[in-house]
Amino acid sequence: MKKILIKDAAILTMRDDEPFTGDILIEGDRIAGLGPDIPEDGCEVIHADGMAAMPGLINAHQHSPMSLLRGFSDDLKLMDWLERKMLPAEARMTPEDIYWGAKLAMAEMIRSGTTAFADMYIHMNEIAAAVEETGMRASLTRGLVFTEDDGGRRMNEALDLIRRWSGKAEGRITTMLGPHSPYTVPPERWRELIRLAEQEKIPIHTHLAETVEEAAIIRERYNQTPTEYLVHLGLFERLHVLLAHAVHLNRRDIGRLRGMRGGVAHNPVSNLKLGCGIAPVSDMTAQGIAVGIGTDGAGSATTLDMFEEIRAAAWLQKLDLGNPAKLPAMEALRMATVGSAELLGIAHEVGTLEAGKKADIILIDLRKPRLQPVHNLPSLLAYGAVGADVDTTIVDGRVLMRGRRLLTIDEDELLAQVAERAKRIVEGI
Ligand SMILES: [Zn+2]
Repeated sequence: MKKILIKDAAILTMRDDEPFTGDILIEGDRIAGLGPDIPEDGCEVIHADGMAAMPGLINAHQHSPMSLLRGFSDDLKLMDWLERKMLPAEARMTPEDIYWGAKLAMAEMIRSGTTAFADMYIHMNEIAAAVEETGMRASLTRGLVFTEDDGGRRMNEALDLIRRWSGKAEGRITTMLGPHSPYTVPPERWRELIRLAEQEKIPIHTHLAETVEEAAIIRERYNQTPTEYLVHLGLFERLHVLLAHAVHLNRRDIGRLRGMRGGVAHNPVSNLKLGCGIAPVSDMTAQGIAVGIGTDGAGSATTLDMFEEIRAAAWLQKLDLGNPAKLPAMEALRMATVGSAELLGIAHEVGTLEAGKKADIILIDLRKPRLQPVHNLPSLLAYGAVGADVDTTIVDGRVLMRGRRLLTIDEDELLAQVAERAKRIVEGI
């Protein structure tokens, strides 16, 4: 079995202990031990003096191929942005475009310290293939909108993804069922999907209450809040549910989600940029609701840098509540690791550094003026680090990036493919 020893790192386990300097032993795909002076015999050694080691960041909600639309259409209202720009461009994407767009996102994620992600899109076979090749960990969902009769095509693709890919890529791929949102899926479809998910024990990944417009639509159709609507459909009774956004929730809505399995993916940068509002994450965590962090697609967030999201999440709570003690550094980092792992249903395997867990680890190079001196490691990482500070990314015990060089992706080929495809997709839109 392959053994890797990370030596002399400043280790942040994301458990309750203080950061300490020491070694991490990886055997195969798992962490075998942490501590001072672990013997090197038989190990490939990674010298991490001057670096921080922490669990890989987990992006709890995004649409990876939207990377092809990065920076294409900004500064518009969400519905205009979606209908006039994103949907026409997405309609032109071929399965091959999706593959390369997903791979672009994965290259960026590995480069910025993300080791696992939850994805919702179309042509999921291509995305799954890219996950398998790049070595990342992912929860994949075929997004389902029911705006016209497609003869069951979308539904068949969703089930095909689940049957074909659950547990594949050495167990790195898991799957969910993805009704897109309260406003794009009619109630009879929701009931059908909930029944199916319960029977087959499949988690659900959906969007909830992203905009005031959505809240107004649901109010008009059903005289309920979006949250109330999903509660009444029975979504939270037995299922593990990943809710993206959850911006427009009132106090009673938050009470309604208490005790839910799964939790909420907070997407602060996308919410900020589209002017959607500030999700009440402090109130949700106070009620025991698990909150993770995601970027949403690069079409809105521009980058997939989870360090930006961590920072934005903390800032928003401090600003919104007029209190700098809200969402402290450690808690924001916890959301992006343990919290997101909870949402993806993989918290028993990843999210913290401890013996027996999967070896999903990142090393952050602190040897630079911007990140010195190190008084308080969590503060420095949450408020000072950026994705480009990540030196090494390890998933499932396999090194995917070392010394900022990608080891599973041919970056020259990737960038050439992306340049050509992206141009064709947006031409004339
Ligand atoms: Zn989304």
